[in-house]
Amino acid sequence: MHEASIAQSIVQTVLQEADKQSAFYIESVEIEIGELTFLGIEQIEFWIKTGFQGTIAEKAEIVIKQVKGIIHCKACDYQGELNIQKDPAYHISIPTFSCPQCQRSKIEITQGREALIRRIKILKK
Ligand SMILES: [Zn+2]
Repeated sequence: MHEASIAQSIVQTVLQEADKQSAFYIESVEIEIGELTFLGIEQIEFWIKTGFQGTIAEKAEIVIKQVKGIIHCKACDYQGELNIQKDPAYHISIPTFSCPQCQRSKIEITQGREALIRRIKILKK
């Protein structure tokens, strides 16, 4: 359960941060999940909601944005989106880890592998 552990660390960070700011309660949390993490957004949301139960974030609105995968090709200098092929047989996204311009695989991922907290909206005491 990869999603559960990611969600758990998000929950911990949010609650710690709110505590530092002496929050009364948390209004909303904005999270960015990279497309290339291959994490299920719905699962993440579910686990975050579960983790928030009984805390000051219990009623927080959870906004999750998916960030596009961006690659840089070392062979032809292409920079842009990666082709992501959806495979209906597995219900998951399987990326073609090759450059959409020159088809070679000398690529590096510059965006889309992160799972981060973008914003926490709190109400102070
Ligand atoms: Zn290329």
